[in-house]
Amino acid sequence: MERIVEPERQIVFRVPWVDDKGEIHVNRGFRIEFNSALGPYKGGLRFHPSVNFGVIKFLGFEQIFKNSLTDLPIGGAKGGADFDPKGKSDKEIMLFCQSFMTELYRHLGENTDVPAGDIGVGSREIGYLFGQYKRITNKFEAGVITGKGLRYGGSSVRTEATGYGLVFFVDEMLKTINETFEGKTCVVSGSGNVAIYTVEKIHQLGGKVIAVSDSDGYIYDKEGIDLDLLKQLKEVERRRIKDYIPYHKQAIYKPNGNIWEIPCDIALPCATQNELDENDAESLVKNGVIAIAEGANMPCTPAAIRVFEKAKVLFGPGKAANGGGVATSALEMEQNAGKTRWDFEYTENKLKKIMQGIFRRCSQAAIEYGFPNNYIVGAN
Ligand code: GLU
Repeated sequence: MERIVEPERQIVFRVPWVDDKGEIHVNRGFRIEFNSALGPYKGGLRFHPSVNFGVIKFLGFEQIFKNSLTDLPIGGAKGGADFDPKGKSDKEIMLFCQSFMTELYRHLGENTDVPAGDIGVGSREIGYLFGQYKRITNKFEAGVITGKGLRYGGSSVRTEATGYGLVFFVDEMLKTINETFEGKTCVVSGSGNVAIYTVEKIHQLGGKVIAVSDSDGYIYDKEGIDLDLLKQLKEVERRRIKDYIPYHKQAIYKPNGNIWEIPCDIALPCATQNELDENDAESLVKNGVIAIAEGANMPCTPAAIRVFEKAKVLFGPGKAANGGGVATSALEMEQNAGKTRWDFEYTENKLKKIMQGIFRRCSQAAIEYGFPNNYIVGAN
């Protein structure tokens, strides 16, 4: 216990950058290389104003166990900066990423530490970070970072992986009560990468997502969320969720609304930590929820989890349910090491098998330790 709670290495660094007006800003960068017992340090980078050492530490600690549950050879790490990407131009993002990597590169390597994305870090940022690493080291070391674009070493399915994996995990939980996604009403919080591909896979499996959100509010569309529009707004145009409304008259936008007040069969928090508290859990249970799983990292508070446990509804903890993202990152590393590329179908099938494996390990461990169907105990 003493060894596992103490990170192997903690790095804090200055990230100076110049904005479009020529003004200099200084942010704080972090990387916690928590544990390398199973493989090179692996975990995402988060760019968000809320980032501090405590946030990176809890994420890094979770990452150790999440990564080990995938059964792939990856250690645990996390990093990021208290930088706010909201409203920044492409050039400002590029200059920030280059400055960030100018300091971090010395700690990385395909067999040492391999970052990826998290909140605020997507394929655009990964491209800038990888480009700077390549310039400084004079090496095309593809396996040093994951979530790359498909034309320069990225893996197919990496973009979709966390959301798809989450749905595959829930599908396994549902099988234990002889249920499927078919005809189920779902609420997915967030509207970033995890939420978007959670919605996509649910719709493919015959379920209906009726609400998504961002930090300003939620939209409720009883006809089911229009995924193409959601992708266009969030991925292409980087706009806010309220901009969905003019396109769909039946949809409702609730600024500052609490998405968990909406009755649903399956609730999937995919936004951020502590977004679902005890009261939210109680209203979900009262409205007849049958399954909850965490697409974000630790979105449910401990009190909320106790409510779900008491109500005996299916609950998939993040370190198991959202492991599909990092697992596919490990598949990207594998492809990079072999200088090869797998197609979408093959990779998605691998992801599905990995999620089934994670579920099996959680469920068997839960039985072994006398807590059948408790996937939190099983995962831990
Ligand atoms: N940030 C993701 C997570 O929380 C992915 C990390 C990765 O791909 O390394 O697991």
